Amino acid sequence: MADHSETHVKMPNIKFTKLFINGEFVDSISGKTFETIDPRTGEVLARVAEGGKEDVDLAVKAARNAFDHGPWPRMSGAQRGRIMMKFADLVDQNVEELAALDAVDAGKLYHWGTMVDIPDSSATLRYYAGAADKIHGATLKMSREFQAYTLREPIGVVGHITPWNFPSNMFFTKVAPALAAGCTMIVKPAEQTPLSALYYAHLAKLACIPDGVINVVTGFGPTAGAAISSHMDVDKISFTGSTEVGRKIMQAAAVSNLKVVSLELGGKSPLIILDDADVDKAADLAISAGEICVAGSRVFVQEGIYDKLVKKLAEKAKDWVVGDPFDPRARYGPQVDKRQYDKILSHIESGKSEGATLLTGGKPCGNKGYYIEPTIFTEVKDHMRIAREEIFGPVMSLMKFKTTEEAIQRANSTIYGLAAGIVTKDLDTANTVSRSIRAGIIWINCYFAFDGDCPYGGYKMSGFGRDLGMEALEKYLVTKSVATPIYNSPW
Ligand code: NAD
Repeated sequence: MADHSETHVKMPNIKFTKLFINGEFVDSISGKTFETIDPRTGEVLARVAEGGKEDVDLAVKAARNAFDHGPWPRMSGAQRGRIMMKFADLVDQNVEELAALDAVDAGKLYHWGTMVDIPDSSATLRYYAGAADKIHGATLKMSREFQAYTLREPIGVVGHITPWNFPSNMFFTKVAPALAAGCTMIVKPAEQTPLSALYYAHLAKLACIPDGVINVVTGFGPTAGAAISSHMDVDKISFTGSTEVGRKIMQAAAVSNLKVVSLELGGKSPLIILDDADVDKAADLAISAGEICVAGSRVFVQEGIYDKLVKKLAEKAKDWVVGDPFDPRARYGPQVDKRQYDKILSHIESGKSEGATLLTGGKPCGNKGYYIEPTIFTEVKDHMRIAREEIFGPVMSLMKFKTTEEAIQRANSTIYGLAAGIVTKDLDTANTVSRSIRAGIIWINCYFAFDGDCPYGGYKMSGFGRDLGMEALEKYLVTKSVATPIYNSPW
């Protein structure tokens, strides 16, 4: 494992640090700001406006006005789609600056950002731009002398609250279908990673998205986030984050105006590797990158292939490069902040003290910033903390099993149900496992395959509602039935 964590200074010009409300960048009413930190160094990157309840009130007022009186929900879907396409073009034209912002704010790999995160973000916008003029209801032949049709109307003012792990993708996963539906919105990005969302607000304005349609309020969860989830004039909340906060969002919705809630929450996703798998391929799939909610953090390995896989992983680990997100050799960047860094290290310590065997990694690296060596534990038992709790970092736990039935039972033995993977050459087994695992997405002989048209979301305490795909559009629409009498119909 190589450590290249020396900082490769590639500092984007940070232009936007204020709240974006009703088409303008403004200071928070309190005048307060907060620090966003460069995880490569632990130093302050920028000070960003700290939105509070009063700022959320203003943003909701702007969104409400844009919804009740503005052009966006009243345009044809084709018109909205055209503007969204322009927005997507602007994202593509600024790909390097946007990837650099996510690299310094979130520790995301720059080359990954330019090749995957940002292009996927504009692709998501285009997917929903194409859907905007395909929203329609049904005609209903009612019994007796009536007929009806259904209207698919935008749900109204939406609050989007997002986490730090994919700042750009999360923004568009939420914003794009809501825009296509004709909604107006307030986005609260994670306090660790506010910068790219503000940049997207600027691009939205350049694309001629009307004022008040997209508002961005940066700030903290218990203040700005809670003000959105308990607001009486927000019609829907779309949340991605931890299960713990998801529960608070639902409570806030219940005691305020019963706003519609969808939640994408935590996971502890299993990857099941069967004896017949190709060892090299299985090892590559098992090495799923760290800070993703769907990380295959519980790797169940059948006993016949277990030792070979452990050997292969140990060999591959020698080539892993932990480094500055701008270093093209880097495969792993820093953790997003000190809190996450400490949390991961504490999980690693618990793995050691509970008796798991440390195969690789297990300690911090670099002399500044929040770098941690990618870590693999073998001989992990189901009761250990590293096998039960979401770590959200580069820590893999290998667990041995005998039969497929046992693997299914143990894989399902979690409060979560976000994703799962299976590696085998046997199609029947792959199908059986896919149908038996209670999770929102199953990858057969692949991992982390995502696309705009593939719905994604949780079972159990990983949440409900789906992001991406046409299903996500449904979350931002509401159905109205219109009935009318029809006399003397021959049919
Ligand atoms: P988090 O729950 O701490 O924060 C997420 C967002 O919620 C942030 O914007 C935060 O400011 C806000 N928030 C915090 N307290 C709030 C409150 N009381 N009211 C309203 N908003 C509040 O999560 P995180 O640490 O940013 O992200 C990590 C978590 O996100 C992990 O659990 C991970 O699994 C989950 N995640 C899930 C998915 C998915 O698709 N299911 C995707 C990415 C991340």
